[in-house]
Amino acid sequence: MYDLPKNDEISQDLCASLDAADPLAPWRDEFVLPQGITYLDGMSLGALPKAASKKVADVVDHQWGQGLIRSWNTAGWIDAPQRLAAKVAPLIGADADEVVMADSTSVNLFKLLVAALRLRPNRRVILTESNNFPTNIYVASGIERMHGDIEVKLVPQGNFDEALNEDVAVVLLTHVDYKSSQMHDMSNVTRRAHECGALVLWDLSHTAGAMCIDLQGSAADLAVGCGYKYLNGGPGAPAYLFVARHHHGEIDQPITAWMGHARPFDFAIDYAPAQGITQFLSGTPSIVALAAMEASLDIWSQIDLPMIRAKSTAMSELFIRSVEHQLAPSAIQLASPRDETQRGSHVGLCHPQAYAVMQAMIDRGVIGDFREPNLMRFGFAPLYTSFVDAWCAATTLVDVIESRAWDQPRFRQRAAVT
Ligand SMILES: *Cc1c(COP(=O)(O)O)cnc(C)c1O
Repeated sequence: MYDLPKNDEISQDLCASLDAADPLAPWRDEFVLPQGITYLDGMSLGALPKAASKKVADVVDHQWGQGLIRSWNTAGWIDAPQRLAAKVAPLIGADADEVVMADSTSVNLFKLLVAALRLRPNRRVILTESNNFPTNIYVASGIERMHGDIEVKLVPQGNFDEALNEDVAVVLLTHVDYKSSQMHDMSNVTRRAHECGALVLWDLSHTAGAMCIDLQGSAADLAVGCGYKYLNGGPGAPAYLFVARHHHGEIDQPITAWMGHARPFDFAIDYAPAQGITQFLSGTPSIVALAAMEASLDIWSQIDLPMIRAKSTAMSELFIRSVEHQLAPSAIQLASPRDETQRGSHVGLCHPQAYAVMQAMIDRGVIGDFREPNLMRFGFAPLYTSFVDAWCAATTLVDVIESRAWDQPRFRQRAAVT
């Protein structure tokens, strides 16, 4: 499946024939994709599932409009965080009762980092990489400021081994790097951290929905991840968090609020955490946002994950090869691992005028994104991206660079979101 020819000759016809043979191709019809747009930014904001519009309309018009407060019971609103978590669990190699949907990734990071520190009271270091997604570092630094004795230690990518020692309570790592797409070996890293008595908190934001992961098989302790990237839950979608079952007895999270209470409708003065993963809920969940997320997860429940990974690597490989074949090596640099086993589902390319080049591509209907200081990212969301999309992005990129079409003042104008 998804075998690319060995030579470098990649044509639109070849891509069209790969699409025709692609068993995942029919899923594209389940998404809204605007005419004339080649969308390669699914790692920032996944496309809209058609079912999500319908489901949100139903939740708003009927469950909220007509059902009103009754819908907490009659429409299953109160169980939504656990019901959706059961649909995320198989995507990340966890059991349903180890996962819950709640809040944002950032807030879940806070809850789990503090919980991890409490599980290792004699240790004081949160160890992470300086290339980690900035919000992860900001959250850790915020905890450092709250607790005088806690220290956040930043090490260069892949160098946490030397920094692992008996002071480290928790290693905080993003499984697939948001810039380079470099992937960590989850089992190996987790084992090394455990050997020195530390816990590991994995951020799966660029992982889930793009490949198979096995949290249980990797003996992972804790994980968080984002709902609006490859999982297509919509802008600001609820995030998920994972706590391995063997930690459930002892673990204790800091945002103690009523939805995580054992009996929220007792309205008791004293806090008593719910059993198991439910204690990781805080305030009232956003039911409308959960509805969009659930529509997408109902698609994911039908998807074969090894196939997703196979298509993702084939599309990325095809894109890299077409760019490298057509551009001089000095024109652009690959910022991602060449080895597909080390790479997530997006490809980073560096160019000194990356921002303007990306704006010129967007002007031609090819949407990727830009990250400081000189990186373009192209994401290959396997559910709705085609091989022709990958080809079209490569040829547009080559043309924009060769013709210097990017060299216009309007393409240098920075917007708030890049
Ligand atoms: C996207 C992303 C986040 C997003 O966090 P939010 O709280 O949803 O804004 C966090 N961590 C990583 C690694 C991400 O890629």
